[in-house]
Amino acid sequence: MSTKTQARHRLTILGSTGSIGVNTLDVVRQLGGREAFEIMALTGHGNIALLAEQARTFGARLAVTADESRYAALKDTLAGTGIAVAAGASGLDEAAHMDAGWVMAAIVGTAGLAPTLAAARRGADIGLANKECLVSAGELFIQAVRQGGGRLIPVDSEHSAIFQCLETDQRHAVERIVLTASGGPFRNHSLAQMADVTIETARSHPTWSMGLKISVGSASMFNKALEMIEAKHLFDVRPEQIEVIVHPQSIVHSMVGYSDGSVIAQLGCPDMRTAIGYALTYPSRPNLSVERLDFARIARLDFEAPDESRFPALRLARTAMTRGGVQGAVMNAAEETAFEAFAEARIGFLDMADIAEVVMDRMSSVKPAASIEDVFAADAEARRQAAEAISTIKKTA
Ligand code: NAD
Ligand code: MG
Repeated sequence: MSTKTQARHRLTILGSTGSIGVNTLDVVRQLGGREAFEIMALTGHGNIALLAEQARTFGARLAVTADESRYAALKDTLAGTGIAVAAGASGLDEAAHMDAGWVMAAIVGTAGLAPTLAAARRGADIGLANKECLVSAGELFIQAVRQGGGRLIPVDSEHSAIFQCLETDQRHAVERIVLTASGGPFRNHSLAQMADVTIETARSHPTWSMGLKISVGSASMFNKALEMIEAKHLFDVRPEQIEVIVHPQSIVHSMVGYSDGSVIAQLGCPDMRTAIGYALTYPSRPNLSVERLDFARIARLDFEAPDESRFPALRLARTAMTRGGVQGAVMNAAEETAFEAFAEARIGFLDMADIAEVVMDRMSSVKPAASIEDVFAADAEARRQAAEAISTIKKTA
């Protein structure tokens, strides 16, 4: 027990310079900073100044930029500090292998899969924000966690909520899980209006402040599609037990319905630090200075059914779950590629789901992954096919 407790105080944050990473370091600071935690490794990508500042402030042993071309810049910035520096895929692997008992997986996209898997395999407890790990690698990722012997604690607000609402000895009585969705900035837009939106309007989330990719994913509800698949793997439920409900206030973070008709919900202000703190100190609850809910001021909580004709991503998630195999990896990789094209104004907002669907259909007979290499191969092929589909759109546009 004492070794485990000691080990839990050693942290690594994969993706420390992003929205979740910065919030995680704020939670670490609130819970005692360097006095209470030993930061083993921090990783970033483009923002070297922030990464170096974080590494210095928290006394990290290792700082890693995933972008090899920025290695020299990071090395120069941290010269004389005694903080080790690394870069690229091998640097991320080194960070994952540092002896931290708890690892925050906060890289965006499948770029986070390899280091998160490495940390899981060596038995670290994983705080999972990087949902793409589960969407792409599914059972293989769960297996790696089991074999490693560490815990997998969700950080995604909906999944943290469900995790908190699940009574461990009553799992047999779970009827359904209900994922809430804010509906994003285009909740009341028609399809015609959505066809013309730009990255600037798509990224402006009404309730949560988050990274670019997930903000746009909230606008298209692709993020909710990823979360449905994430929930299936995390909680081992059947696709038909997963419901999505639009809840514009983002106060009810998600719910679990039981066989006696009871529904247990977890509520809070839309602030990721609550879910991060819960994952960091699980099973105890930390003291956090975050805004408290003022029910009289909120006054009402609204719910409405999602419209799958305007948000086809939800339908694609069900298709991916029904087909199984590598369809989650394919859906995610095709969408990441389409998202990049949308961010560069090469395709329209609605094209993203169309491209994901086309690639999923073309790759529907690919064999299930026997190993993680098969997942990476399906990911690469889906990106290639998505790029091809994008070039066709460009020609006809
Ligand atoms: P972000 O874009 O703000 O940060 C991403 C992090 O990943 C940064 O540290 C960046 O340097 C790093 N990164 C980017 N590209 C990389 C690459 N190719 N290789 C290695 N590292 C790379 O993203 P975010 O909003 O913090 O989201 C991170 C993850 O958490 C995503 O999977 C997202 O879906 C999930 N998540 C985020 C929130 C949120 O509130 N932001 C909520 C729930 C789940
Ligand atoms: Mg979420």
